[in-house]
Amino acid sequence: MDDRLYRNVMGSFATGVTVITTKVADVVHGMTANAFMSVSLNPKLIAVSIGANAKMHQHIKDSKKFAINILSSNQLNESKQFSGQLQSETEITFVTYNGLPILEDTLAVVTCELHSEYVVGDHTIFIGQVTGVKIEQKDPLLFSQGKYRELKELQE
Ligand code: FAD
Ligand code: NAD
Repeated sequence: MDDRLYRNVMGSFATGVTVITTKVADVVHGMTANAFMSVSLNPKLIAVSIGANAKMHQHIKDSKKFAINILSSNQLNESKQFSGQLQSETEITFVTYNGLPILEDTLAVVTCELHSEYVVGDHTIFIGQVTGVKIEQKDPLLFSQGKYRELKELQE
């Protein structure tokens, strides 16, 4: 099967955009990810799927805790910054929440402790036990068919 066709099909499943953040030996790391989902309500567990070649893969194994920053529609630059899509690195301000570095101006944040991990093909699915959540009144940044988009409500 052709990789491009496969990615086009997977990209037709519209998602929000997150930046995973963590800290290892006092250095803050971030990575853009859209392979994120809620897994369980009781206990509260989430999953992220991270490529084995991504540096974040090792950072999560080292820190054993991470935050999911759910981006708002005005955070296109943050998504590009943390996926290596910007030519020059911009200065990013992090604040601390539940002992983890998080981005400012996000739609929502989920903080986690590493619960378990599963190697699946060329990715690892990291399960996070949720330790805290917060949410603001903002619109989400969306990613669909390889492009960033904004939400538009349909008339019912
Ligand atoms: P690095 O290459 O170290 O970091 C990524 C970028 O973030 C670099 O440009 C770096 O300069 C910057 N950065 C890191 N920390 C900081 C900091 N403290 N301050 C400022 N800048 C910093 N990959 C997956 O594995 N799973 C996914 O679900 C996934 N979803 C994606 C969704 C979208 C919409 C996009 C665009 C990409 C997605 N990717 C995903 C790809 C992933 O974001 C990139 O491969 C990324 O570059 C991998 O980063 P890394 O962990 O190797 O870290
Ligand atoms: P794209 O057309 O490459 O991605 C569309 C969809 O394909 C993604 O939403 C994802 O569901 C899937 N996908 C893409 N690359 C994948 C990978 N390596 N492993 C598993 N699923 C993958 O979109 P784009 O705008 O070209 O993406 C920008 C970059 O971000 C590319 O390098 C892409 O590989 C990477 N990316 C990786 C993942 C991931 O690892 N899960 C997800 C999204 C984007």
